[in-house]
Amino acid sequence: MAKTFLVVAEARGGKLRQVSFEALRAAQLSAAEGDHINAVVIGGSGIKALAAELAAYGADSIYVVEASALDSYSSEAYLSALLAVTAVAQPGAIYFGHTAIGRDLAPLVAAKLAAGQISDVTAIERSGDAVQFTRPLYAGKAVEKKAFTNPNDTWVVTIRPNNIAASEPDASRQAAVADVAYPAPSLRSIVREVVKKTSGTIDLAEAKIVVSGGRGVRSADGFQPLEELAAVLGGAVGASRGACDAGYCEYAMQIGQTGKVVTPEIYIACGISGAIQHLAGMSSSRVIIAINKDAEAPIFKVADYGIVGDLFEVVPLLTEEFRQLLK
Ligand code: FAD
Repeated sequence: MAKTFLVVAEARGGKLRQVSFEALRAAQLSAAEGDHINAVVIGGSGIKALAAELAAYGADSIYVVEASALDSYSSEAYLSALLAVTAVAQPGAIYFGHTAIGRDLAPLVAAKLAAGQISDVTAIERSGDAVQFTRPLYAGKAVEKKAFTNPNDTWVVTIRPNNIAASEPDASRQAAVADVAYPAPSLRSIVREVVKKTSGTIDLAEAKIVVSGGRGVRSADGFQPLEELAAVLGGAVGASRGACDAGYCEYAMQIGQTGKVVTPEIYIACGISGAIQHLAGMSSSRVIIAINKDAEAPIFKVADYGIVGDLFEVVPLLTEEFRQLLK
C-alpha cells in the first residue's frame, strides 16, 4: 500500500528553515516507489508564499494553514492546525525537524494519532521494504538503529538538523497547493509577545560553523573575539553552561545536554573544558577544534585539532588569518 509522507516545514523570519528541506530529503530516503511526499506549512499571513520552495525541494503537494492566530508558535494552536491537515491528508508518516518546535509538536501529534515515534534521526536507509533509522545515544558515544514494526502504522519521525543533506532544489518543479482552514479552537493560553534573546542572525542549530566560548572567556566582553571570528567565518556563537551560569551570555546560546544540540561542519571550542554534558550537544560535529590553555583538558580527547594556548591570543590570530584567506 502506498504511504503518504507529510513533512512539517518550519519558517522563521519569513523564510523556510533549512531543516525543512532536510526533512523532505529524509522522507524521500524513507519512501518506496509510488509513495507520496507532501508538506505542510503553518503560520501567519504570507506563509503561503513559501509553498513554491517546498515544491522545488521535492514536495508533491503542499498544505497551507494560514491564520493570524498562527503568527507565533503555540503548541495548542499548531497542534490543532496540523490535525486539521492530517484529517485531510491522511498521512502514513509525519516528519519534523528535531527543533524546539518539532520536539514539542511531534509527540503531541503522535499521541493524538496513536502513532509510534523515532526522534533525533541522523541517517535513514531503505532496503526493500525495511526502513532503518539511525539516532545517536549517550552524547554520541553510541548509535541506535531502529525501525517501525509495521510499515502500515503511522510513523512520526524527527530529523536532527545538519545531518541529512537536502536535495538540490529544482525551481521548475510544480506542486498542488491546498489551503486548510485553521479550526480556531478556544486556546487555554495565547502567546502575547516573543522576545528574541540572541542578536545573531544565524540560527545556532543550523549553523555550518559554530564558535563557542566557555568559562575561559572570563566575561561578557570576552565573547567579542569569538563574535569576530564567527562573523569572518559566517558562523554562529554558542556557549558552555559554565559561561551562561557565570552571566557572560544568554542561556539561548547554551550547547549541551540541557541546551541546544548542534552538528555543524566545524565547531570551535574556546576555553571550554569538555564536560560530558557539553559534549552531549556538540560531539557529532564534523570537525572539532579546541583552544584551551590546559593541555590536559578533556575537550582535546574529542577534538580533531587542538591548540594549547590562551584563547585571547589564538582567536584573534585565527580571525586575521581567515580574514586574509577568505578575502
Ligand atoms: P570550565 O569547566 O570551568 O572550563 C573552563 C576551561 O577554560 C578550562 O578547561 C580552562 O583550562 C580553560 N581556560 C581558561 N582560561 C583560558 C584561556 N584564557 N584560554 C584558553 N583556555 C582557557 N554544561 C554545558 O556546557 N552544557 C550543558 O547543557 C550542561 N548541562 C548540564 C546538566 C547537568 C545536569 C549538569 C550537572 C551539568 C551540566 N553542564 C552543562 C555543566 C558541565 O558539567 C560543566 O560544568 C560545564 O560545561 C563547564 O563549562 P566550561 O567548560 O565553560 O567551564
